[in-house]
Amino acid sequence: MNLKQRFLTQNILILIGTIVITSCFGFAYVHFYNLLNESHVDGGASHAFIVVMKSDDIVYNSEDFTVLQIKEILMNLSIENNYYEYENRRYGISEENFHIQDGDNYKIITLNEIISINNYYSSFITFVFMTFLIVFIVASVIVQKQYMKNIIVPITNLTNETENLRIGELETTITDSGYGEVRELGIAIEQLRLQLKNSIYYQQRVDENRKFLISSISHDLKTPVTSIIGYIDGVLDGVADTDEKKQYYLSKAIEKTKMINTMIEDLLLYSKLDLNQMTFENEKVNIVKYLENCIEDSSEEFMRENKRILFENKLSTSYFVIIDIVKFKRVIQNILDNAKRSIETKTGQLKVILRETNTSIIIEFKDNGIGISIHDLPHVFDRFYRADTAREVKGSSGLGLAISKQIIEGLNGRIWAVSENGQGASIIISLKKVKKGK
Ligand code: ATP
Ligand code: MG
Repeated sequence: MNLKQRFLTQNILILIGTIVITSCFGFAYVHFYNLLNESHVDGGASHAFIVVMKSDDIVYNSEDFTVLQIKEILMNLSIENNYYEYENRRYGISEENFHIQDGDNYKIITLNEIISINNYYSSFITFVFMTFLIVFIVASVIVQKQYMKNIIVPITNLTNETENLRIGELETTITDSGYGEVRELGIAIEQLRLQLKNSIYYQQRVDENRKFLISSISHDLKTPVTSIIGYIDGVLDGVADTDEKKQYYLSKAIEKTKMINTMIEDLLLYSKLDLNQMTFENEKVNIVKYLENCIEDSSEEFMRENKRILFENKLSTSYFVIIDIVKFKRVIQNILDNAKRSIETKTGQLKVILRETNTSIIIEFKDNGIGISIHDLPHVFDRFYRADTAREVKGSSGLGLAISKQIIEGLNGRIWAVSENGQGASIIISLKKVKKGK
C-alpha cells in the first residue's frame, strides 16, 4: 500500500471506527437509561420515591420526607395538581389505595421524576457528541503517533543523513525505517551512499595508481635505461672497438631492454588488477593434473641449477578448482622462481604439497631456502617489496607476489606466507574446492 492509499484508508478507518464506537455508546446510553429507570423516557422518570401510608401514618418513606412534605404532596394530589417540586426536580405523583382483610386502608404514593423529552434529547446529543469527539481525538492521536514514528521521524533522520552525505561524511549507514515509500527512499539513499563511496574510493585508487606508475617507472626503470644508453653510447662512441665488444655491448643493451619490457608488463598488469580492469576467464580445472603440468614445465630449470622440485598429493580423491589457467600459471611461476632463487644448489628443494580441508584445496610451496625474516614477512605481498637479499636480483621488480595476491583474490582465494627462522619459507594458497560434476 502506498502512502497516499495508506493515508486515505487510515482516515476512513478513523471515521468509521469513531462512528461505530459512538453508535455503540449511544445505544448503551438509551438502553441503560431506560433499564435503570424501568420506564421509557416519555413515561418519564429517572428518580423515583415511594411513601406507604396506613390510614394517616407513614409506614414506609423512601426519601425520609417530612410529614409536612407528605401533606403537601397529598394536597397537590387532592387538587389534581399531580406533580411535586423537590430539590429542583419535578416529580409526577401517583396514588394507589387498597384494603387488606383486617380492614386497614393502605396508600402507596409514588413520585416519579418527570423528564422532558427535550432535556432527554439534548443530554443524549451532548453525550453522543462528546463521545464522538473523545473517540475521534483518541483515534487521531494514536494514528498521528504512528505517522510520527513511521513518516516524520524517518524523514527527519533522512534529511540529517543526506546533509551528512552532502558534507562528505560517507561512513554512516543510512537507516531504512518507516512506511513503504519512506523506507524505499532510505534504501535508495543508502545505495547512493555506497555508490558514491565506491566511486570516490575508485577515484582515489586511480589517482594513487597514476602516481604509483609514474613514480615506479621513473624509479625502477631509470637504472636499466641508463645502462642501455651507456652500452649504445659505447658502441657509437667507438669504446667498443672490436666486433666482440660491440656484440657484447649490444647483447647487454638487448638484455636490459627485455628486462624493462617485463617490468612494464608487470606494472601494467598490476595496475589493471588493482583497478579491477582485468577480466578472469575462469574454468573448472583438475588441480592435480594442472599442478603436475606446471611442475613438469619448471623441473628442467630446477635440474639445470641442481635443485629439486617435488610434488606430494594428499587429496583423497580428484578435486577441481575454478581458475583462470593463464593468470594462475603466472602466480605459480613467480612462486617457483622465488623459491628457486632462495634455495641452495645441491641441497635446495621445493616441495609442492596438495591437501584439503572441508571446503578448500590448499596448495603449499615449501622450500628449504633462506626463508623470510619476521621483519619482511608482513610485507612480501606489498608492491615493490623486496627483502634486502633479493635487491640485487636482476630484473626483479618486487611485483611478483603483489600480482599473485591480486590474482588469487580475484579468484576468491587466499594467499599467505609462513617462514620460521632459517627453516625455509612456505607460500600457501587456498582455493574453494569443487567436486567433479558440480
Ligand atoms: P619479481 O617477482 O617481480 O621478479 P621479486 O621476486 O623480488 O620480484 P616478489 O615475487 O613479490 O618479488 O617477492 C617479494 C620478496 O619476497 C622477494 O624479493 C623475496 O625477498 C621474498 N620472497 C618471496 N618468496 C620467497 C621465498 N620462497 N624465500 C625467501 N624469500 C622470498
Ligand atoms: Mg618474484
